[in-house]
Amino acid sequence: MLQITNLSKNYGDFKAVNNISLEVEPGTIFAFLGTNGAGKTTTIRMMTGTLQPTSGTVYIGGYDIRKNPIEAKFLMGVIPDRPYIYGKLTGYEFLKFMSDLYQVPHKESNIRIGELLEHYGLTNWQNDLVDGYSHGMKQRLLMCASQVHRPKLLVVDEPMVGLDPKGARLLKDTFRAKAKEGMTIFMSTHSLSVAEEVADKLAIIKSGSIVAHGSLEDLYSQSREGTSGLENVFLDIIAEGKDEEASSSIQFPQEAGE
Ligand code: ATP
Repeated sequence: MLQITNLSKNYGDFKAVNNISLEVEPGTIFAFLGTNGAGKTTTIRMMTGTLQPTSGTVYIGGYDIRKNPIEAKFLMGVIPDRPYIYGKLTGYEFLKFMSDLYQVPHKESNIRIGELLEHYGLTNWQNDLVDGYSHGMKQRLLMCASQVHRPKLLVVDEPMVGLDPKGARLLKDTFRAKAKEGMTIFMSTHSLSVAEEVADKLAIIKSGSIVAHGSLEDLYSQSREGTSGLENVFLDIIAEGKDEEASSSIQFPQEAGE
């Protein structure tokens, strides 16, 4: 569903993303982890077509995001790290605007919007201006907006920020249910407990390079003896000067044949 090959982004001499390759199969929940400034958002922006890579390719469902951006974007729902919502629209109007952008037929879009508002608990607020929504309500409205066109790939930069426990639970359950239906979910997150709970595959990016990649079991079994929990594994891998150590024990995408 998602194939990233030798993707790089340089700012002058600085390599924000350094030759990364990843492949994500359909129906997978994929967690993209890394410390602040590691290159997660830069990667996501290149994946979703809002930032030109210095080199490398990104294929979404077989479409090159640079050569066939429209086809690729129709397959994708995106929630960026700093989303913009038109506050002077009501929740319903915003979702209608988004479904028009994705050319969802009128009748279908009304049914779809109704379903999404219900699922994310916003039905009673659909006619209120978004300006009046709480942060968590805006997050849930963005989840609705990202799915009006039934995307096959959902890309979410930090999905849990600002959600209360009920909202976080709803999102995790939704991710699991959608993945079962075949949707692929790519999320960048600092919430290691969330990644541990829902992710099928994970990658850790450090200073622009992928330093670990695989299933939770791969990461656990390949970490130092006695290390337990994703948080400890993550800290072990990203610890200063541990790249070489990590590289000998962690599964790399190229080595895994992915
Ligand atoms: P965070 O978890 O803090 O959001 P991140 O992993 O998403 O971090 P990025 O936003 O991808 O990190 O940034 C990667 C690096 O690229 C950072 O060092 C950042 O300062 C740098 N960077 C990003 N955009 C630019 C730019 N336009 N010009 C120069 N450097 C940039």
